[in-house]
Amino acid sequence: LPARGGAELVRKLFGPLGWSRVDAVAVPLDEQFPEWGDSRYVRLLLEGELRLADALRQLYVLLPVLDDAKHYWVSPDEVDKLLRAGEGWLADHPEQKLITSRYLARRWGLTRQAMERLELVRLAESDDLDVESIDNAVDETADTEERPVPLAEQRRTAILAALSGAGASRVLDLGCGQGQLVQALMKDVRFTEIVGVDVSMRALTIASRRLKLDRMGERQAARVTLQQGSLTYTDKRLKGYDAAVLSEVIEHLDLPRLPALEYAVFGSARPRTVLVTTPNVEYNVRWETLPAGHVRHGDHRFEWTRAEFRDWAGEVARRHGYTVEFVPVGPDDPEVGPPTQMAVFTMTAADETQKEAKAA
Ligand code: SAH
Repeated sequence: LPARGGAELVRKLFGPLGWSRVDAVAVPLDEQFPEWGDSRYVRLLLEGELRLADALRQLYVLLPVLDDAKHYWVSPDEVDKLLRAGEGWLADHPEQKLITSRYLARRWGLTRQAMERLELVRLAESDDLDVESIDNAVDETADTEERPVPLAEQRRTAILAALSGAGASRVLDLGCGQGQLVQALMKDVRFTEIVGVDVSMRALTIASRRLKLDRMGERQAARVTLQQGSLTYTDKRLKGYDAAVLSEVIEHLDLPRLPALEYAVFGSARPRTVLVTTPNVEYNVRWETLPAGHVRHGDHRFEWTRAEFRDWAGEVARRHGYTVEFVPVGPDDPEVGPPTQMAVFTMTAADETQKEAKAA
């Protein structure tokens, strides 16, 4: 099973649940190359005498918790599901907080609600508190509480604001993935031309479905293009736009390939404004359940500190005739900074004059 947190976490989760044997072993990435270390999979053998229904309810909760891939919007009825499946074992589990928080995709409002209800269950079991007072204690207004805005959404808001601030109307979304930003851009009439580029055909297919490209009216369809391409090669189709966005893309490139992307974007395509967002690795200590030293996504080739990002961005700006400013995205922690860092590059006036002269 895929297990973020490794064999040790698997043992911590199944250990207290009444099995006579919990055997968890990390699966190496490649047996022929032990120096590559472990994969994210663990081989788990459980032995014991449990009621099948109880064992299945544990697995129903703990497999997704270990996989830790739930990133979609989790609705409040997930709390009920968790409490139902957790009946008889979750209220007393030493890792209750981790289980609850991961199961509910780290939505803290829901996690707190679940933990409060579990606490009541525990009290009820020990003190004979009656069920009615448990139900009464569940805050009916909890659903209307403002839900924390997902970081991806905060990123899009920051990007839209920076693009408007720059007065951009023809925009490239480089490494557009499944098209969420393209979709947000389409909703604003100020963006008259939107081009999404990605190397992954699969991502583009999903993006096209999301945008309902095949059912779009002619005028809308004329505003948007999705095209396949790699950002590490110069591409004539990308020249002449007002702005380019690279949202959570650079960290997916191997570092030695980064200069090629730099040249393709800042040297060849040369839009007036370039926005680059990337994780701030310093913030990782604030993610409750991210093991120390782990990156946030399996495909991240690197994650930078604020200083590393500033150094890189400063150099790029200097080499290619841009100025650069930095904008925090998400809660700006006084110690470790924000979860996402954004650089806003603006072509310097001299360069723009040159470009206009060339065009003329
Ligand atoms: N911009 C989106 C997606 C980020 S995920 C967002 O903010 O949610 C990174 C994306 O970059 C993936 O869709 C991946 O396919 C794409 N990507 C990675 N390397 C690329 C390359 N060399 N050229 C183009 N796209 C690339």
